[in-house]
Amino acid sequence: MPDSKKDTSPRESGPFPAILSVNNLKQYFYRKGGRAAPVKAVDGVSFSVFHGETLGLVGESGCGKSTLARSILRIYTPTDGRIFFEGNDITRLSRREMRPYRKKMQMIFQDPLSSLDPRMTVGEILMEPLIGSGIGKNRAERLLRAGEILEQVGLSRDALGRCPKEFSGGQCQRIGVARALITRPGLVVCDEPVSALDLSIRSQIVNLLLDFQRELGCAYIFITHDLSVLRSVSGRVAVMYLGRIVELCLGAEISDALHPYTRTLLEAVPARNPRLARQKDRPPAAGEVPDPASPPGGCCFHPRCRRAMPVCEKTPPETRAFGGRLVSCHLY
Ligand code: SF4
Repeated sequence: MPDSKKDTSPRESGPFPAILSVNNLKQYFYRKGGRAAPVKAVDGVSFSVFHGETLGLVGESGCGKSTLARSILRIYTPTDGRIFFEGNDITRLSRREMRPYRKKMQMIFQDPLSSLDPRMTVGEILMEPLIGSGIGKNRAERLLRAGEILEQVGLSRDALGRCPKEFSGGQCQRIGVARALITRPGLVVCDEPVSALDLSIRSQIVNLLLDFQRELGCAYIFITHDLSVLRSVSGRVAVMYLGRIVELCLGAEISDALHPYTRTLLEAVPARNPRLARQKDRPPAAGEVPDPASPPGGCCFHPRCRRAMPVCEKTPPETRAFGGRLVSCHLY
């Protein structure tokens, strides 16, 4: 699979400056003893996110999406490459040096209940990021702000004194959204924010996120394994496979995806394929995602690719601009 470090596409420019730029980012994990090959969870990823846009990040479980998100937020220290936030290089900043950026970069987690500390009240949960960011003069001011945002996410101020376990999954995710947005961040990473919720609740949470985006002008990185969710939210979509971005295009153009891996993800979307919709945990492509510690040579999708050619087994394809999108495949 190609090195995705080339930012040559017209899709990698926008009317506004980038709030985030990632350049050839690598996140490797070394096993104990250090002798075995590292797990290359993220392996040379480059892209930008512009103010106020939503970039969808899609791929199967184990493709490195969540690791990439955690590297961007500096939960991990990257192995190599650079991360620029608002033009500042944050790649190697210490915890203390990262503090001013924390309120500007937030995260919404997949499992709403387990992401909220059960020993804390909702008020304490919502005030925590305010305290960490030095927002609000005193407790009364922070509680006021916490009550306001609770109402914005559709919950009553009475929730401030209650604990997370008293709420449903959908309500917990509303609290998670409130916690992420209470500091009015410029960038929010939404890590599968609706996949643990009932279908009936999903669109409510997505609409809530879109409302906040209109009000705050924040940018989202919206991670999901389900392309059907991205259609309604993403300005652009980056498709990830085995630690690399294999296709980057406009969300509106995703139905005409070029890369064979993106095509298999599309075929797994229930609306396009009712037979697959009835299968639980349906695989988007035959076979498993290979071990990132020993990826296949050449194009690392070749063992699963229906259109693989002899060259695919030996030579990693380059990332090229093709028809207004970035794609890494020998077919283009
Ligand atoms: Fe990879 Fe070749 Fe398939 Fe393209 S055609 S995705 S390069 S295996």
